[in-house]
Amino acid sequence: MAKQDKQFVKEITPQSEDFSRWYIDVLQKAEWMDYAPVRGCIVIRPDAYEIWERCQRELDGEFKRTGHRNAYFPLFIPESFFEKEKEHVEGFNPELPWVTEAGGDILEERLAVRPTSETMFGHMYAQWIQSYRDLPLLLNQWANVVRWEKRTLPFLRTSEFLWQEGHTAHANEEEAREETMRMLGIYADFVESFLAIPVIRGQKTPSEKFAGAVETYTIESLMKDGRALQTATSHYLGQNFAKSFEIQYLDKDNQLKYVYTTSWGMSTRILGAIVMVHGDDRGLVLPPKLAPTQVVVVPIGPAKAREAVVAKARDLFEALKRADIRVHLDDRDDVSPGWKFNEYELRGVPIRLELGPRDLEASQAVLARRDTGEKITVPLDAVVERVQSLLADIQRDLFEAAKRRLEENSHVAETLAQLVEIIQTKRGFVLAGWCGDDACERAVKDACTATSRCIPFDPPARPATCVTCGKPAAYAVWFAKSY
Ligand code: AMP
Repeated sequence: MAKQDKQFVKEITPQSEDFSRWYIDVLQKAEWMDYAPVRGCIVIRPDAYEIWERCQRELDGEFKRTGHRNAYFPLFIPESFFEKEKEHVEGFNPELPWVTEAGGDILEERLAVRPTSETMFGHMYAQWIQSYRDLPLLLNQWANVVRWEKRTLPFLRTSEFLWQEGHTAHANEEEAREETMRMLGIYADFVESFLAIPVIRGQKTPSEKFAGAVETYTIESLMKDGRALQTATSHYLGQNFAKSFEIQYLDKDNQLKYVYTTSWGMSTRILGAIVMVHGDDRGLVLPPKLAPTQVVVVPIGPAKAREAVVAKARDLFEALKRADIRVHLDDRDDVSPGWKFNEYELRGVPIRLELGPRDLEASQAVLARRDTGEKITVPLDAVVERVQSLLADIQRDLFEAAKRRLEENSHVAETLAQLVEIIQTKRGFVLAGWCGDDACERAVKDACTATSRCIPFDPPARPATCVTCGKPAAYAVWFAKSY
């Protein structure tokens, strides 16, 4: 693609024509990101970053409410740390960028730029945890991490990304397992209530679990093109890292014991999910709880009536602001209302408030919903109240629409042929039985590139036999093509 085309998107490619192109067009035209000069890296621009900040605030509040504290650990991790946990190093090695030289000298030991920090936390926890009184230790950090991914896509999979990573240590298995599930629950509730994206909760199969974890739990969502996206993970690490890093404590019975650890993370990937779940051919559609601007007030009508209209529009703007609604007044007279309408639709502003001379005469205004296009006429003295209730309606309706799409695109397959046919013709999630054998899971991927997304906690059906080999099924698994 020519550089020119990349930077200046004239028209948004329709979703039905090319979903990936549509995604990039929207991100660039709405000024959410730009490509950075380094492969796989993006610049997150203010409108998107502000949403990330809102996500941070919300999640951080939940983390603190559940007893966690924030800290900051270093970006560089000595190579020897990775070698302590065999599975971890095997999993992450292909993606690690190394610092081999600094200050003009070749380093004695290579330093990895962190892809995740289990090793660094493990190293420090071994020093900080001495007795049962030091447990549980519940820390989180907000940071950037680097994974040299082969395939990259803005937000969903970048070489460097922002995230939070929680790392906790517990005296026993039960508490660590509880923590793993508690954090998965916090992610699921957050994604559903703030991002308005329904999730499927479940456990990863061994081949898809985090390198070094005993078990990985995940929340998975459906994008509008029928592909799945893992939106967050929570890992039960058992004593794997405790043993590699010698994290031991003296228990009440005077015995030296290994701790049990967990880790959990959510990244800037969720910004891409918002776009792919709610966006349409006109651009972004933002859930009101996260939208940087929730309402834009646009005065319209001929120049002679302008002064009175703009004055009233300003009153409404002030009243909305006083009610803590994130509102913007666009009273520029050098751009047409039509141009403004397109611009705010592209940017996904949930409500547009139009006010013209005839509205003023009738003491009313028009509220236009970004998600449905519906226009609602409301009396001027009821604007604030109606906007408040409409924002809540939009938030709920976006979730309901996404939930319907998830239900409509969830299927059950009894045989591999059926599964392949569904994936190839409709995509979406396909529930199938699985015997537990890696080879049978792999056969699905080989047949249609769909991978196992999770073993759901509450499957809608329990297929009796393995979709590949026909032996009795030990699990019900959701398969999907994924990002
Ligand atoms: P993990 O540590 O692999 O379990 O990843 C934690 C979370 O980070 C995942 O659930 C993803 O949502 C996200 N994530 C992983 N890799 C990337 C990436 N390359 N770019 C953006 N987000 C990522």
